[in-house]
Amino acid sequence: MGAISIRNLSKTFGKKLALDNVSLDIGSGEMVALIGASGSGKSTLIRHICGLETAQYGGGAIDIMGSQIQGGGRLAHGARRLRRDVGVVFQQFNLVGRLSVLSNVLLGNLGRISLWRGTFGLFTGEEKRAAREALARVGIPEVGWQRASTLSGGQQQRAAIARTLVQKSRILLADEPIASLDPSSARRVMEVLATVNRENGITCVVSLHQVEYARRYCPRTIALRDGRIVFDGPSAELTNAMLVELYGDGSEELVLPDIEAPKKTPSRPVSPVLKPAGVFAA
Ligand code: ADP
Ligand code: MG
Repeated sequence: MGAISIRNLSKTFGKKLALDNVSLDIGSGEMVALIGASGSGKSTLIRHICGLETAQYGGGAIDIMGSQIQGGGRLAHGARRLRRDVGVVFQQFNLVGRLSVLSNVLLGNLGRISLWRGTFGLFTGEEKRAAREALARVGIPEVGWQRASTLSGGQQQRAAIARTLVQKSRILLADEPIASLDPSSARRVMEVLATVNRENGITCVVSLHQVEYARRYCPRTIALRDGRIVFDGPSAELTNAMLVELYGDGSEELVLPDIEAPKKTPSRPVSPVLKPAGVFAA
């Protein structure tokens, strides 16, 4: 059974066609990168998959683990239950800053427990043990009692991933989870995603701004341009030359200027996250 199946998804915001007839299938256990310049529709697609946004009437359908989560411009009846299977990690603001990290991770239980138990923070010993285990799994076992606001950016992303483990989500959607991180934190977060994909069998879809991370961590890449899929295949096939072909000038955002540099980039400053040392160091 497929994890995510999207048929002819289209979404307009006013006159802007943000998703243009997108169809794709992602198998259970895959690790897929979603790339594209800003404004290409990555976040919009992710928000539709997890049911945070609906397409317009006649704008296609999405199945999660074989059941429809939305179709015909509406959420399906079973959407609430299906949402539990989908963990989401955003670029920022994943955690409640004034709560402890452990409390944040425990919030992953909310879809499954009664409202009053969640409201009063009444978690069982077993749930607390699972939350501590999840923090250990993402490599930050020692921060459970700290306020979430005291964590570094990379630690916050890892705690957000831990929360999706507590949620027992089968699918993890991460929307530019490393966009605001330095290269070594970015690498660690991508490694945690790769680990939960490999060892827990969680299907991962990660939107990324830099294609180097897609090549390194995700066997398959789906590339969007203006809301349309322009490439879907093995990440290894996505050479910089092909990116230039797919995106033209827009490729400057996505590729490492140092390797097979697109002709129009010589004067562009190299931002820290694009430094090859940050990406390729073992
Ligand atoms: P990406 O995540 O790839 O940067 P987005 O999915 O955020 O791209 O945006 C795709 C397009 O849809 C952009 O042109 C953006 O301005 C537009 N868009 C996204 N969300 C909204 C919204 N809530 N209202 C209006 N336009 C939106
Ligand atoms: Mg986005």
